[in-house]
Amino acid sequence: MESIITAKFGGSSLAEAGQFEKVKNIIESDPNRRYVVPSAPGKRFSSDYKITDLLYLCHAHVQQGIPFNDVFDIIAARYKEIVACLILKHKELKELDIDSILNVIKKDIGSGASADYTASRGEYVNGIILAKLLGYEFVDASEIIFFNKHGVFDTVKTQAAVKEKLLCKERAVIPGFYGAMPDGSIKTFSRGGSDVTGAIIARCTSSTLYENWTDVSGFMMADPRIVSNPKPIDTITYRELRELSYMGATVLHEESVFPVREAGIPINIKNTNKPEDKGTLIFDDTNCSEKPSTITGIAGKKDFTVIAIEKHLMNIERGFCRKLLAILEQNEIHFECMPSGIDSVSLVVEDKSIASKLDDVIEEIKRQCKPDAIEVYPNMALIATVGRGMSRSKGIAATIFTSLAKEQINIRMINQGSSEINIIVGIETDDFEKAIRAIYSAFVN
Ligand code: ADP
Ligand code: ASP
Ligand code: MG
Repeated sequence: MESIITAKFGGSSLAEAGQFEKVKNIIESDPNRRYVVPSAPGKRFSSDYKITDLLYLCHAHVQQGIPFNDVFDIIAARYKEIVACLILKHKELKELDIDSILNVIKKDIGSGASADYTASRGEYVNGIILAKLLGYEFVDASEIIFFNKHGVFDTVKTQAAVKEKLLCKERAVIPGFYGAMPDGSIKTFSRGGSDVTGAIIARCTSSTLYENWTDVSGFMMADPRIVSNPKPIDTITYRELRELSYMGATVLHEESVFPVREAGIPINIKNTNKPEDKGTLIFDDTNCSEKPSTITGIAGKKDFTVIAIEKHLMNIERGFCRKLLAILEQNEIHFECMPSGIDSVSLVVEDKSIASKLDDVIEEIKRQCKPDAIEVYPNMALIATVGRGMSRSKGIAATIFTSLAKEQINIRMINQGSSEINIIVGIETDDFEKAIRAIYSAFVN
């Protein structure tokens, strides 16, 4: 079968001219890398700015009637520097009139272009530069990625446009992060959305692999900002990835998994700065025969409130949980999970979803459900320990609880998902980093 690779490069992979050179080498080292999706330039060092953030700032200035020249100049200087450095080695870039491209964008922003249009220009300009450098055709995302009138991604229209305008090209660069509404106006995905564009392009071009090039050698067992030098994950299933990404392991945009998962296309997360590293391969569990390790990874999220409710003989009272959930629904609050025992149930909700409504909700629960006790625990964090090998190993929960107890961390809530690939504990937000490190060391060292 013909191999086609869609390769998406993140912001740090294209933050300066030197990074563009690395990307060119990577692409040229495998002729199957035919469709390339770039992000906008990201940070070159930790205190640097991301171009996308600066573009949003330009838009905000215009909205407030404040001059945006200074901010735009920083953006323009970044692009001009990239082009100026690349021209030294790659004469073909001389054909690129970067000044006029930037001038048009500046004029559009100044005359009140939308936030989405403004933000999308980061990827647009990077796409033009990269296409020129590679000698690939540039295909604007607004020609092939579509949203319906409700702003929802339009699979059918996109698939048809890709067939007509992209598949006829041997090789192309398609900027990430945005597409077009039915009226032609630009709409972006949510932040980090170039991952989604990459997944869509991989799917619509029937790619055999979706490569996601970033600044880490794959998915780590824990956030490298919390655990120093965490072990990389060689293989992970889509299900595990979904659990970990949802809980805050944000290497990949959550929505980028669905298009490729449905089509059975594996994702390989790779490091632009260390292309020889294997990275992480994400695939479907159905075609997996290897014995997985006990746990795959650990991730967590802060800012939750847990409402713990107790009532004697709750188990035989009909409609108790229905009443509880109806109260949340009437108050337009969604819940994360609802661990339960025989006479107890806890509701775990995001702080921002319940904040101003908490007192009313508690009163309503007392009135309608008449619990024996109701406790509210604010400032909670959730930590998920995820692994497809968990159901086959004994003592996983015990290891987690012991590791937390040793660090004197109180567990307020435990939830073992019915999928048996996930154990979630609720702890105080202040203990968050300590808890992740404790669980990690319990399994890894
Ligand atoms: P890109 O700009 O290439 O899209 P992102 O910043 O979106 O890259 O994602 C990569 C970053 O994700 C890493 O630099 C790292 O800081 C962070 N990260 C969070 N959790 C993890 C994890 N479990 N494994 C690896 N990286 C992680
Ligand atoms: N540049 C966009 C952002 O910063 C999209 C992306 O990087 O994927 O969110
Ligand atoms: Mg990203």
